[in-house]
Amino acid sequence: MNQLYTRFSTLRRSVPFSLRLQLAAWYTIAFAVLLLLTGAVFYQYLERSLEASVDTDLQIRAQQIAGGLVVHNGTLNMSDLTAALPGFGIAPQAQGARLSDVNQGVLVRLLDAHGVLLGETPAFRALRVPGASVTQPLQGAPWQGTVLSTDEQEVRLYSRTLTTGGNPVAVIQVGESLFTLHTLLHQLVAALLVVGFLVLLACAVGSYLLAGRSFAPIQRLAETARKIKAGDLHQRVPVPPVRDEVQYLALTLNEMLDSLDQSFSRQRRFVADASHELRTPVAVIRNKIEVAVLRPRSPDDYCTVLHSIHAETERLSHLISDLLALARGDEGQARFERETVRLDQLVESVAANADGLAQKRGIRLSVQAPQPVTLIGDEARLIQVILNLLDNAIRYTNAGGQVLLSLQTTSSETQLVVRDTGIGIAPEHLPHLFERFYRADPSRRRTGGSGTGLGLAIVEWIVRAHGGSIVAESQMGRGSCFTVTLPLTPQASEAAAVARETHC
Ligand code: ADP
Repeated sequence: MNQLYTRFSTLRRSVPFSLRLQLAAWYTIAFAVLLLLTGAVFYQYLERSLEASVDTDLQIRAQQIAGGLVVHNGTLNMSDLTAALPGFGIAPQAQGARLSDVNQGVLVRLLDAHGVLLGETPAFRALRVPGASVTQPLQGAPWQGTVLSTDEQEVRLYSRTLTTGGNPVAVIQVGESLFTLHTLLHQLVAALLVVGFLVLLACAVGSYLLAGRSFAPIQRLAETARKIKAGDLHQRVPVPPVRDEVQYLALTLNEMLDSLDQSFSRQRRFVADASHELRTPVAVIRNKIEVAVLRPRSPDDYCTVLHSIHAETERLSHLISDLLALARGDEGQARFERETVRLDQLVESVAANADGLAQKRGIRLSVQAPQPVTLIGDEARLIQVILNLLDNAIRYTNAGGQVLLSLQTTSSETQLVVRDTGIGIAPEHLPHLFERFYRADPSRRRTGGSGTGLGLAIVEWIVRAHGGSIVAESQMGRGSCFTVTLPLTPQASEAAAVARETHC
């Protein structure tokens, strides 16, 4: 199957402008069918009209013959008829081939009221006439139909009676060969076929050229799109002024390039920021070691240097695991467990762990989680959400301040609120807080030692992967409030896809 598909694709690729050819072929086929149908209808109509005109001719001729016959005392005088029609009579006589040929000779027959032959032309003798053509007119209705001659020629026949005083005296039968009519129709069909073929040829060439013209803008678009290299994503394809499918395609391509451009720049910025962040602690460690080994020092001095190197490596290790988590999220490799989580218990236990740090910094940490809250999610990652928010709240709150961790639940969702009375965030920073490596104020960098600028980006990614959302509110000097809304019904899998898209 795969092989077949590969061969088919190779064949398609090897045919130039195959779509153009296909379009031209479809146009031509459709036109051919239309032409054939029109030709068939036209042929039928013409055949019927010509036959009808033959029938009218026959009726007039029969009328003329009837008008020329004289009935005297019940006896029919046919002398005028015999004189007008060479060879007309009962007995066959030696006649010229022309007169006895159904296609060339006159076709007339006369019978009496009993169906007995009164006279006929030589050509008429070659006809196979059905009995109904005599009996039906005698019963009152003229007969009309197509009969065959002995040499299978088609002949149109009309049969009527001659009456005197309401009684039939004779049956007059006249006929006309359909040979000329059929020859005419055959010539017409031949002419139609030749003209039709030429028209179809013109249609095929015309539609091929037209399809080429219609595809030219698409071809130009494709060529421009091909020129746009991965590193040159700020280029755009030209948008045609006419509002048509090509314009729509160009706009779609440009939209795609926009989002690719944004995504690539985000990626580049991320790599640059990551390298910068990784370089700083390494440079600090190297510097400390270089200074330490400049001259011999006391064991206490070495111990101090080792402690500060340890702190830097801790920070480095945090940074690397954060980077790894986000990179896995971007790749779609991050696995999210779907387990039953008691969020109220998680909040209590994370707060209990952080309480020591809060007390050390002179901050009062309180928790309000009055009722049990159960949801489906990844427990370890939800702990990371609470921990990151709580860690920030403690870090950016001065001694004597307060941090409140609360849980408010409705029937469909729960809100985890982390509120502090800390230094706050300026309004211009709020929209960027969840961007990677974004820090509200560079001078706050590394306050407390372990900030990487990735904490909130990771929080947002996890929350979105759980189908939730996060909002930050803050007032400078008065404190900040982070509200995480999580649905109680699981939507994690769809949301995970959304999270991957947003962080690409
Ligand atoms: P970091 O590791 O630097 O804290 P985050 O992504 O967690 O990185 O936070 C980004 C920035 O948002 C921080 O550098 C800080 O400026 C600001 N911020 C986060 N939480 C708070 C808060 N509770 N109070 C004041 N500023 C905050």
